[in-house]
Amino acid sequence: MTSFNSRFSRVHRIRKSLGIIFFFSFFYSLFSSSPVPSQGFYMVGISSFSSASASARVVRYGMVELSPFFFKDENGNFAGYMPDLLRTLAENEGWRLSFINAGGEELVKMLQEGEIDLLSMAPTPRLEGLFDFSKNHHYSTWYTFFTRSDSEILTFQDLEGKTISMQSGFYALSELRRILDGIGIRYTIAEAPTVEEALEMLRSGVADVCAAEQLASLAKIRRFDFRRSPIIFAPSKIFFTTTKGKNTALLARLDEKLSELNESPVSLMEVLLRRWYYDDEFTFFPQWALWSFFAASILLALLSAGFVIFYKKGRELRLQGVRLQERLDSERFLSDAARMLLTEGGHEDVLRNACRKIREVIDARRILLLRSTFSSTRRRSIEISFEYASPGLPLLSEHSEVRSVLISDIPRKWLIDLTRKKVVKERLYETPLKKFFSVSEGAFFSFYPLFEGGRFWGALAVNIDDTMESSEPKDILLSTFSEMISAHLLRKRQERRLLRIATTDALTRLPNRRHFFETLDREIARSLHRGHPLSLILCDIDIFKNVNDTYGHDIGDDVLRQFARVLRRGVRAEDFPVRYGGEEFGVLMPETGMRDALQTAERLRLHVEKARFDIGKGENGTVALNLTASFGVQQFAGAHDSASAFFSRADSALYEAKTGGRNRVFPVATENA
Ligand code: GH3
Ligand code: MG
Ligand code: MG
Repeated sequence: MTSFNSRFSRVHRIRKSLGIIFFFSFFYSLFSSSPVPSQGFYMVGISSFSSASASARVVRYGMVELSPFFFKDENGNFAGYMPDLLRTLAENEGWRLSFINAGGEELVKMLQEGEIDLLSMAPTPRLEGLFDFSKNHHYSTWYTFFTRSDSEILTFQDLEGKTISMQSGFYALSELRRILDGIGIRYTIAEAPTVEEALEMLRSGVADVCAAEQLASLAKIRRFDFRRSPIIFAPSKIFFTTTKGKNTALLARLDEKLSELNESPVSLMEVLLRRWYYDDEFTFFPQWALWSFFAASILLALLSAGFVIFYKKGRELRLQGVRLQERLDSERFLSDAARMLLTEGGHEDVLRNACRKIREVIDARRILLLRSTFSSTRRRSIEISFEYASPGLPLLSEHSEVRSVLISDIPRKWLIDLTRKKVVKERLYETPLKKFFSVSEGAFFSFYPLFEGGRFWGALAVNIDDTMESSEPKDILLSTFSEMISAHLLRKRQERRLLRIATTDALTRLPNRRHFFETLDREIARSLHRGHPLSLILCDIDIFKNVNDTYGHDIGDDVLRQFARVLRRGVRAEDFPVRYGGEEFGVLMPETGMRDALQTAERLRLHVEKARFDIGKGENGTVALNLTASFGVQQFAGAHDSASAFFSRADSALYEAKTGGRNRVFPVATENA
């Protein structure tokens, strides 16, 4: 089959030739010289049947079958150029067309006898005497020769000795004989009933040349590789014909309509010819298909536009949704974190939990909570206080060398920026820590500084991915989060300070009376729970009033401070020395029985006795004085005992020591106590 391109170029050529037919259609009709009217051709007759319909004029048109002008289609209906042209001409005329198909001679006779109303013929003087002709012709044509591709006919002389196939029954055949005989060429005519058969004779080699009407043949020869001769002969113009004196009105009306058609810038004849000319090999798109295609294209364009808009809008909305969700997540996280940082107890645990939580929100690869601290060698260092690493990545804090990094290992510029509360964005890979990262990891970190009031506490280090960019919302979230941590750190410090103030004796820095009684309760509970002993030493400086009276209250205060120091140094770390009154002190001794407590009390008594308490500078240098103290000792007596009973027994013991002569421990230690 032909490709679209070759078909297109052919269409183009044919359009051109049709244009020529249209514009140069006034060929002199050789028909006019035909002595045989019945060989006139292809076309038409109409007669006035008594019509079933009173109003419709039946026009009987006689036609010789010749595709593409007139033929029966696959449904047996008359089709082709002439039926279409007549149908167009009959439009709005109230004519009902009836096509009568017969041989040329027969049709001429039928027209003469009024059996049909209309024919198409080329006028001759003889025919003009018998029939009326329209003034306008409705078709012009000519004949030409075709050969197989191995030969060609350029002049009539080339037909010498050739067998010429040709459809019989047409004027052109006698015209060809007239021409060839006139020139004196020897030839053979092979007549065929149809153009197709004449062409088949050429193809099969029965004939050397085929002479054929240009349109009827052109449509057929395309499927063979035939060569077309430049010679044309038997040109003719075809007119509508009616019986002399009859149907003059019909003829006049046809003329009017043909004039209109000829004037029309778009030739109906061309359109019709084109339609039937291609009929056996080319199907034009039906109008509905064109319209459907057009409508479908518009619909598709609209749909595409709609889809693009919808998609873009959808993407925008999705992005907005994601951003909104991120914000909601951030805000939810921040409020959770705020609540956590404000209300939860364990300080460092809270921070760790908060860091664990933030990674759910920002989907980081690594999160480090870095704390500025002192190393074992008392050098400032950075310690990994918490670390999260996404699955598959090794934990840095698992390396003991990394857990604590000397500040000197970290670029100074980073530290300066951090201590100026600036966010630092750098590659941790560029620090001595690089050996702990794989090269591919890149380890780009954002460091958010953490402050405890004015003091640099550390940093929150976050590695989201390898790029230097972290999304702005995440950056804001992390900055806000680190500020919240800083606020938490400050608050915790203030809380600690307040607690210290509330529980510490300002003068001696020992736990105060309130702290003492709280601790007493707690230690009693623990002692009961564990079944371990618990003892209490109470002590009161002897005749302290004299110190105040002699040296003044300030020196008295100073002496009390020094006394507290003696006491603190004289007890174990797990003991709990307190100042519970003016010059009254105590030592709560967990996991200590009476015997050990008595020993401790005795030791403390000796320490006090030996100690020199400075009371300022005198003329001979530093002046010091000696003091003594009395001690009462008791052990907690178990479930039936109570804090108050326990304390008052110790107080009674202290009283016993006082009344017993001071500078002593009561009860007195015995061998088996
Ligand atoms: P003793 O206990 O041996 O019976 O004699 P004392 O003189 O120590 O007895 P007392 O309990 O009567 O006196 C305690 C004195 O301690 C009274 C008070 O002036 C003094 N004192 C109490 N608290 C403070 C204090 O915070 N600073 C100073 N400078 N003196 C204090
Ligand atoms: Mg006292
Ligand atoms: Mg006293």
